[in-house]
Amino acid sequence: MTDIRLIDMRHEVIDGGVGRYSRTDNGYVTIGRAYHHTAVLWLRPDATEVEERNHVHVIDQYHHGKGWGGFGYNGIVFPSGRAYFCGDWDGARAHVSSRNHELDGICFAGIFVGREPTDAAIAGARLLRGLSVEAHGEIPEAGHGAWALPQFPTGCPGDDYGENWIPRIAEEENVAVTRVYQPEGKPEVYREDGAHIPDFDTYEALRQVAEESGGRWEHVMLPVGHRLWRQFDLPPSYLA
Ligand SMILES: [Zn+2]
Repeated sequence: MTDIRLIDMRHEVIDGGVGRYSRTDNGYVTIGRAYHHTAVLWLRPDATEVEERNHVHVIDQYHHGKGWGGFGYNGIVFPSGRAYFCGDWDGARAHVSSRNHELDGICFAGIFVGREPTDAAIAGARLLRGLSVEAHGEIPEAGHGAWALPQFPTGCPGDDYGENWIPRIAEEENVAVTRVYQPEGKPEVYREDGAHIPDFDTYEALRQVAEESGGRWEHVMLPVGHRLWRQFDLPPSYLA
């Protein structure tokens, strides 16, 4: 049963929703929004609110037990469309290794390999996204895998890091979204066979792709790690 709704569970999770530390108190700037999937067991679309709340508590205990403080994401949405707000946006949680000081995290219950989230889940995620926008503005957003550092590769949240459906979360708000990671400096780049490519120049590679495509592409995928790809915006100057 579809029930698109935002439910505040901050006072019910182990850390009271405050996270491991304050990002701003530590001088960190939140630069992006990461979307995840739970990947393991999930609930059917007609699950009840009680069942979903229990699921949140299970994840909370699991993440706490792993030494991550508590519930790893700022919020989670279920196939029903119910979205549970679990962590203040200023608090560092535990969802993208070594980047939790600078990323908001929103999770979809389920696994999105060969399938996409329900329309209700997309709509529910939009409610959580709205809170994140209130806190940090229109920042770049992408799947976990697109934000992951090369040493922490992941398939989260499913096919192509969810790039086919993540844009739909913001779509109906009619806002212009920068949903891709903006490169800074030189990423460590590896070939498919794992061999390191020294001195990889992201902008030079983007320029070459733009040239070869005749300026038709507005974004490209570049390899940044073994079996890990990241999508980049082409700077306007590269577009024909
Ligand atoms: Zn993830």
